[in-house]
Amino acid sequence: MARPANKALAKIADLLHGDLTMFGVSMPQKALRDKLRAEQVSIVARYTQGMMLANIFNACALLAALWSTPVRGEATLWAFFLITFATFLYLKRRANAGRPAPTVMPERVVVLATVNAAVIGLIWAALPFFFFASAPQGAQLVILSMCVGMLFCGALSLASIPLAATAFLTPLSFSTAFAIIEMNSAYRALLACLLIAYQYVVMRGVVTYAAQTARKTIAQFESDELAITDSLTGALNRKGLRNQLAEALARLDRYGDGFAVFCLDLDGFKVVNDHHGHAAGDDLLRQVADRVRSCMRDVDLLARIGGDEFAVIGVQASKPEQAIIVAERVLKAFTAPFAIEGRQLHVGISIGVALAPSDGTDIDGLLEKADAALYNAKRGGKGTYDFFTREHDDLVRERRVLEAQLRSAIRNREMHLEFQPIVSLATGALEGFEALARWNNPGRGAVSPSVFIPLAEEIGVIQELGEWVVKEAVRVASRWPEHLSVAINASSIQFRTPRLLAVLHDALSQHNMPAGRVEIEITESTLIAESESAISLLKTLRQWGVKIALDDFGTGYSSLRYILDLPLDKIKIDKSFVQTCLDRPVSGTLIRAVVCMARDLGLIITAEGIETAAHAEFLLRQGCDQAQGFHYHRPAPADEVDILIANEAKSRQEARAA
Ligand code: C2E
Ligand code: CA
Ligand code: CA
Repeated sequence: MARPANKALAKIADLLHGDLTMFGVSMPQKALRDKLRAEQVSIVARYTQGMMLANIFNACALLAALWSTPVRGEATLWAFFLITFATFLYLKRRANAGRPAPTVMPERVVVLATVNAAVIGLIWAALPFFFFASAPQGAQLVILSMCVGMLFCGALSLASIPLAATAFLTPLSFSTAFAIIEMNSAYRALLACLLIAYQYVVMRGVVTYAAQTARKTIAQFESDELAITDSLTGALNRKGLRNQLAEALARLDRYGDGFAVFCLDLDGFKVVNDHHGHAAGDDLLRQVADRVRSCMRDVDLLARIGGDEFAVIGVQASKPEQAIIVAERVLKAFTAPFAIEGRQLHVGISIGVALAPSDGTDIDGLLEKADAALYNAKRGGKGTYDFFTREHDDLVRERRVLEAQLRSAIRNREMHLEFQPIVSLATGALEGFEALARWNNPGRGAVSPSVFIPLAEEIGVIQELGEWVVKEAVRVASRWPEHLSVAINASSIQFRTPRLLAVLHDALSQHNMPAGRVEIEITESTLIAESESAISLLKTLRQWGVKIALDDFGTGYSSLRYILDLPLDKIKIDKSFVQTCLDRPVSGTLIRAVVCMARDLGLIITAEGIETAAHAEFLLRQGCDQAQGFHYHRPAPADEVDILIANEAKSRQEARAA
């Protein structure tokens, strides 16, 4: 006997807690339940003021109807109770009306709403119970209409919380039924049937409405959740991060809870993605997210805010020493390799940290500052963390200015090219020139291409700059004698689209220059980063007759076998090896090995950065073909190059004449 009773009590308790499982709604987990409850209560709250005014009006109307009867005193007492309670609820709701509706609601609010509904239901139930029998016929009609009216209005306004609706309807229904039974009328059986039918319809309506609103609300929450989640890793996305930062800032404002924002960036993700495919890249990102999560506390939040960029909100980690613990834990976790497609891959991570409130109290400011710290961590050597400081801020601001100036310099054609001679190592005769971009900024003076080229790549203007370099280099070179070639540096990003082909093709035909006089210099990173598209582009270029040179050889990480399989004509040994060839045995060995291999493959070897006669002599002995460096010529503007070419032609003629 105790069991069913316990079960029923448990069901009522569930209902009190806003559970609608018994009405066919599958209930979400706790966090969503709190939100659902808030939605249910806010729907009821919308009707509360109107309903309370209706109660007060009805109480007055009834008092008027019973005023001239013997129960006037009791009716006044009843009206007093109803008006007092309804006014209390009206004023309470009014006090809250201006405030934004809370997004989560504790369970006791539903309990309170149910109790209030029960109290009003009981007061109304007293009406037919105490006054119906003694009321004159007209007043009986008023009482009955009011009871039925209140049944409907109450059900309507409380429908989103079925338990509250039931708490209101039950006493009123019983007491109305009692009144009908008491009636001295031939129609009472009919009236009773009507009442039962109304009851049924009303309760069905309540349940259907409650279930439907709950389902709709849950679906809305779920789609909202989806909109702020990164589907790959299950972390928050950028929008989700901003929402959570807003909440963290609100907590900071209200309770003074500081927090830390970490920006994390993977080192070497692109290589995994390009070498092992996107599926491997995705797998890595998922594992990275899990590994970062394992270093955080449950309350901390993880977001993925870009391809391989993550952010963490470290709740209550507003002091540097607290943030250091988290950052070091993450760095340590990344010393272990990741298992990707059966292979063990090492991927590093760099971390930038900004603290709230000390570094800022706005979303964008904090993100920018953590990003500035990250930028500095990467600059200082990857696999580290750094905190935001004022100097970083200046650095970032300075970088922004430079970015803007670079954009406008490219747009306004403020750049020019210089050309550095490439000569035959054996004879010293001119064989061609390498085109090098130059930027003279009015305020800063000459900005080095090793600064502005990577910046142009990062801010997405390298295509535009690269296209201009191709056009300008071909235009200038077309004036030179036919035996001189022009070498053009191409950034790996220029190999993402076939645009380079079209631009070069147009420039060659416009200036009537054979493709065989053009060399394109690429680096290993081009081949690694854009391997598929790059190789097919390189093949087309070679079909046209364009020569492909591998620049800065020896500084990359690719395996020799991989590189030497590629469509290449030339290898340029990096200046770091050339300049140390006499002091560091390793450099000499590398040069010898490369020359030997290149011979076998029929590739030309150029040594760049030759600064002394001794270097030149060593490289000649090793069997290098071409030379480039300050020992011969520095890069020079186009008009100086014209003079140089003319002088060389003259001295050659003189030599021939002699
Ligand atoms: P790079 O392609 O390795 O170019 C050779 C660099 O070595 C040039 O520096 C050149 O001035 C310098 N150099 C030549 N001989 C010597 C020497 O004897 N000793 C020393 N210490 N240096 C020498 P620069 O002009 O500063 O260019 C730096 C880098 O910027 C270039 O390295 C290249 O990677 C990039 N770059 C320059 N122009 C362009 C361009 O139009 N497009 C692209 N994508 N990159 C460019
Ligand atoms: Ca080069
Ligand atoms: Ca080079």
